[in-house]
Amino acid sequence: MKRLSTLLLSVFLLSMSWTASAQTTVIKAGHLVDVAAGTAAANQMVLIVDGVITEIGKNLKIPAGAQVVDLSDSYVMPGLIDSHTHVTMTEMPGADINDFGAYYYTGLIETTAFRAIQGVAQARSLLESGFTYIRDVGNNALYADVEVRRAIEGGWIPGPNMIASGRLISPFGGQFQMQPEKPGLGNPEYFYADTEDEIRKAIRENIHYGATVIKIIVDNQPYIYSVEDIAAAVDEAGDVGIKVAAHAYSPEAIHNAVVAGVASIEHGNNPSDETLALMKKMGTYLVGTDFPASQTGQARFELILERNRRAYAAGTPMAFGSDVVYSRPDWTRGELTLEFLESFTGAGIPNDYILRIFTMNAADLLGVNTGQIKVGLAADLIAFDSDPLADVTALRGVHFVMKDGTVYKQDGEFKWETPRNMNNPRRKPRRSVLAPRTGN
Ligand SMILES: [Zn+2]
Repeated sequence: MKRLSTLLLSVFLLSMSWTASAQTTVIKAGHLVDVAAGTAAANQMVLIVDGVITEIGKNLKIPAGAQVVDLSDSYVMPGLIDSHTHVTMTEMPGADINDFGAYYYTGLIETTAFRAIQGVAQARSLLESGFTYIRDVGNNALYADVEVRRAIEGGWIPGPNMIASGRLISPFGGQFQMQPEKPGLGNPEYFYADTEDEIRKAIRENIHYGATVIKIIVDNQPYIYSVEDIAAAVDEAGDVGIKVAAHAYSPEAIHNAVVAGVASIEHGNNPSDETLALMKKMGTYLVGTDFPASQTGQARFELILERNRRAYAAGTPMAFGSDVVYSRPDWTRGELTLEFLESFTGAGIPNDYILRIFTMNAADLLGVNTGQIKVGLAADLIAFDSDPLADVTALRGVHFVMKDGTVYKQDGEFKWETPRNMNNPRRKPRRSVLAPRTGN
């Protein structure tokens, strides 16, 4: 008798685990935004199996046992992506964002442990505001970003999916103003590499510890990386399918990085029209980190708008990246990130292209299977009351968030249950972002 009940129990458990592994959800969307086409189709249904979109249409048959999410009053679009963020960095209160010393003091005083805890809070905030994927580009002390990503992937904490850069690779000194009696103070925030061999070795070490993008600091010190230096970085990282993001402000640094074949220019303050045209030709993304006027003041904000107008007119690929490292009373990191919308609306960039900058363009830059609502892509979906194609500030009112088919926000309420499996997730990065390069 006991044996029979045990058998029945195991059959029951087996069927339970089978059901759990084939999680099926149907979303009923009042309007479904196609960011590629710049249109919204009325009364659509989206079928999701195990976190992946498997069917889209007007009258889909709802499978038995499927969870149904009614968003028939809402506009549904793909989750947002921030391609340039720093979840484990918040400058110390009172720091001037125009002062590189602010990074320095924060980097010196805060431990990796504290920075990781900060990352936990910021990652949750970004997910809550509709960011389902982020690329974290350094200033993480000693791999705090990689550890935050592990915790998210292991289900310990809520947060977006993450591409993480590990340590910043730079010529001696990095973005800090070093003094000769204490040359080690730039570590671990920066990983100094001054020759081609040092650059290749730094990349291997970084990737070993979990980096899934390589971020190089091209300028900000007297010696900038040459085309040859950067090409070596692109080659070394490319061998394991990893892209290179280049921090570059000056025209020479931007030019060297684009010619060397990096995936993106970070910041890229004031590229010439020739460089913008070259970026279009090379397929180099501009991740402008376009701070809102509240941070820059009106005069510098006008320069940002002018650069964005020129980049859009030149057809330079653009992906959203904020670079928020500041805090402001009563604002979450996610809300601060969405304030950056004004740097695109203010430049007169059309709403449909702004939505692409925040979704499919960024997904293309990151090399990840999301950014659109399409069969075969990850079910990363967000929803709001009004049409973002008519007014992109609708993005600031996200009331529903789904990542990989799991609902994290519904009716404006964040949903998170204490994890029931605390096995240590592996440091090894997601396979999808480590596709070995084929051919030459
Ligand atoms: Zn940054």
